[in-house]
Amino acid sequence: MKTVFVDVDSQLDFLYPAGALYVPKAERIVPAIAQLNRFAAASGIPVVSTTDAHSENDPEFQIWPHHCVAGTWGQRKAGATLLEKRVVIPNRECPLDIEGAQQIVIEKQNVDVFAAPNLGRVIEKLDADRYVVYGVVTEICVLYAARGLLRTGRQVIVVSDAIETLKAEDSARAIGEITGAGGMLAPVSEICLR
Ligand SMILES: [Zn+2]
Repeated sequence: MKTVFVDVDSQLDFLYPAGALYVPKAERIVPAIAQLNRFAAASGIPVVSTTDAHSENDPEFQIWPHHCVAGTWGQRKAGATLLEKRVVIPNRECPLDIEGAQQIVIEKQNVDVFAAPNLGRVIEKLDADRYVVYGVVTEICVLYAARGLLRTGRQVIVVSDAIETLKAEDSARAIGEITGAGGMLAPVSEICLR
């Protein structure tokens, strides 16, 4: 069974108190995300890492505070979550050279990573049977990623102790939607045993 890991928005602006759109307690899941990514690399499992890469005046900033502007400190992924062989896929039509990459960083400007022009092509190319999803935040970008992946009809597992939320009740609703649509939950310890 071919598995792909999906590491959602593990970027400094979200993960740390100094970040522009800090998700409270999110720094506590960084070791789990790092462990999952390292496990994937050691097991030959590709990691798709979605990352916000906003322009200075992105329409999203009418809803959310300024965050993850391309090229800023906060837009960077947490160092511990980076893998050595990685390719960055920009948020525009471009050639797709992901052969041999351990980590495929998909830049996006929208909460829905499936709105990024290249994600569909990457997913198609990887052709996984199972997706393991984790990162921030549960009720927004993790939910959008899980929804889109569930629509492909493949197995989706959300890593219960490698996600963080802005609002507990919204998170519960998101998890309810994901499991209601056939998604599963599993802790890091179980994922890294498979
Ligand atoms: Zn954003």
